[in-house]
Amino acid sequence: MSYVGPDFDPPQSRRSALRRPLAVALAAVTVGAVAGWGVWQAVGDSGGGDAGPDSAAVPQTRSATTPPPSGEPAASGDGREASPSGSSSAPAATGPLKGKVVVIDPGHNPGNFRHTTEINRKVDIGTGSKECDTTGTATNDGYPEAKFTLDVSRRLRTLLEQQGATVEFTQDGDRDWGPCIDERARIGNEAKADAVVSIHADGSGAGNRGFHMILPGSVNDGAADTRPIVAPSRELGERIAGNFVRATGSAPSNYVGDGTGLVTRKDLGGLNLSTVPKVFIECGNMRDSKDAALLTSGAWRQKAAEGISDGITGFLQN
Ligand code: ZN
Repeated sequence: MSYVGPDFDPPQSRRSALRRPLAVALAAVTVGAVAGWGVWQAVGDSGGGDAGPDSAAVPQTRSATTPPPSGEPAASGDGREASPSGSSSAPAATGPLKGKVVVIDPGHNPGNFRHTTEINRKVDIGTGSKECDTTGTATNDGYPEAKFTLDVSRRLRTLLEQQGATVEFTQDGDRDWGPCIDERARIGNEAKADAVVSIHADGSGAGNRGFHMILPGSVNDGAADTRPIVAPSRELGERIAGNFVRATGSAPSNYVGDGTGLVTRKDLGGLNLSTVPKVFIECGNMRDSKDAALLTSGAWRQKAAEGISDGITGFLQN
């Protein structure tokens, strides 16, 4: 589904020690340009000016990190049997993420299109109401976003479990539709997740390319209070973005986020209702033929999962 909403917010000032406005340049994220562990330093101009794609790049090398897993065989994302929704995985006995809980939210559900009545039901997202869920988009050749999200999520689960994390899904292709966006948030909350990532691919116009992270804006309305999670979610999103660039070679979106790959929104129930650090990632644009060629490649999806996993690992070890 397209998340390009009318209330798109430009990147906000970062709370970090970096006081001066910085921006990530597209040049910094060309393939191979970011060596090692780049931490996304996308800092909007606090004065409201937008950071353009030609601004200075500031990839920051992390210290005291565990090297990313390399040379590991591709996860058998497509072959793994579905486990009951909400069930926890069997984490590795050891690993840097031992004791950490990660909830992965595969966007949409392959069965949603057969359950339009159910998914069109409105649910409370604090700032208002919104449809329970949506069908998601697809490539022009018919590869559904909901299949993409499940595949990347399963690959991601394998990688995180290898790091010792306990991984929980909001759905694993094991239910006819949904869950609704409020339940998706609740699953992360009730798991007391250390991090939640919602996996998506966008459905924008041809020529619109690249990935972007969606970060929760500050909302305090009704059932929604994101104020405690805004800062850690941004940190999570920046780390995933930097590692996603490195792992996939993909550039940040050329159509939202002013070249930063970071977009803040207040209209997504899955973010508004979260009480734990949470981000969405739109891995690419399914409606663009060049992005679609990547999104439909199992090898690329593995790289995408590795980038997301490395970002989560960096966030949880920080
Ligand atoms: Zn989506």
